[in-house]
Amino acid sequence: MDRPTTGMVTTDAVVIGAGPVGLFQVFQLGLQGIAAHVIDALPHPGGQCVELYADKPIYDIPAVPVCTGRELTERLLQQIAPFKTPLHLQQEVVALQRQPNQRFRVTTASGQVFDCATVFIAAGVGAFAPRRVALDGLNALENRQVHYHAIATERLTGQAVVVMGGDAAALEDALALAQAGTCASVTLLHRIDKFRVEPALEQALRTALAQGQLQLVIGQPTELECEGEHLTALEIATDDGSARLPLDALLPRLGLSPKLGPVADWGLAMERKQLCVSTETFATSEPGIFAVGDINTYPGKRKLIVCGFHEATLAAFAAAAVVRPEERVLLQYTTSSPRLHALLGVAS
Ligand SMILES: Cc1cc2nc3c(=O)[nH]c(=O)nc-3n(C[C@H](O)[C@H](O)[C@H](O)COP(=O)(O)OP(=O)(O)OC[C@H]3O[C@@H](n4cnc5c(N)ncnc54)[C@H](O)[C@@H]3O)c2cc1C
Repeated sequence: MDRPTTGMVTTDAVVIGAGPVGLFQVFQLGLQGIAAHVIDALPHPGGQCVELYADKPIYDIPAVPVCTGRELTERLLQQIAPFKTPLHLQQEVVALQRQPNQRFRVTTASGQVFDCATVFIAAGVGAFAPRRVALDGLNALENRQVHYHAIATERLTGQAVVVMGGDAAALEDALALAQAGTCASVTLLHRIDKFRVEPALEQALRTALAQGQLQLVIGQPTELECEGEHLTALEIATDDGSARLPLDALLPRLGLSPKLGPVADWGLAMERKQLCVSTETFATSEPGIFAVGDINTYPGKRKLIVCGFHEATLAAFAAAAVVRPEERVLLQYTTSSPRLHALLGVAS
């Protein structure tokens, strides 16, 4: 992952969104010999696949009978590896402007600026923002002891972990950690003893509780207890007073609210919060700016990954004509083209 850098990045293409469609866009651009940089507001690639259903199976990816959201993302990252595309994570794109020389200027919230010939908006349903816990001092602990986004189980080994929330994401994360058996303890913290989940998931929780794999605390956190800059416990308001909950890590799972945010401010033609595109090129109303995946709309649009893959393929062909207007854009096969083999770094 690229850290926010200073200075301007100059590139052929910027892809906004590292969801499955943004990642496949990079692959198709690579086959066209178009260098790209990818920017995503999340701390990891995969978009909805990792943020909303990382460990659930997907059955409708061509030639992949079944894989999880995380596995699909890993395969897409493997597929784009030959192009060594920089991923700029945890950076929200806030501005997109055409420059007098007709190129584009893309700016992130951290102030990183990209100068590019083409832009691919693969922003899905918008940048995911986790609902925050309103407790004084908690923000400063984010990504150290407070993790709003998916985190690898190994990073929590030996820790007392508190998962907070009452919907499927909270219960699934708490159960997965409890079943991994690598944390010192796992506690599910929820304001009431009722959960907004399928009966089977609630049953799995009740069974794990009965077996002592994790504990349930009902209450609302009111205060942090810290030693220096280290969070050591939460003060909890409970029905019968208060309690102290010691912890090393807090995983709030209070839901995500996708915010379309700045995409709506870029002056592009939209219909019901989606970008209107041509189905030949997936260009938006602004030449040089393409929109692929869940963010776009056209007659017959279906929000499916396979549809986004098709859109990304045609958009890359159209972009080649923008980046290299003097060249004819030919269709070549990855099975037989020495040029594509060279781009992919495989022997002819
Ligand atoms: C529970 C569930 C199950 C699903 N199952 C299937 C299935 O089985 N098969 C299938 O085909 N589809 C399935 N889908 C739909 C599928 O996940 C979406 O169609 C797909 O994720 C769209 O990919 P995308 O790359 O267009 O957008 P997303 O996956 O939404 O990724 C967009 C990315 O853009 C980023 N972003 C947005 N705005 C900005 C900004 N301003 N700056 C920086 N980054 C930004 C976001 O953070 C996000 O990571 C499912 C969806 C859900 C919710």
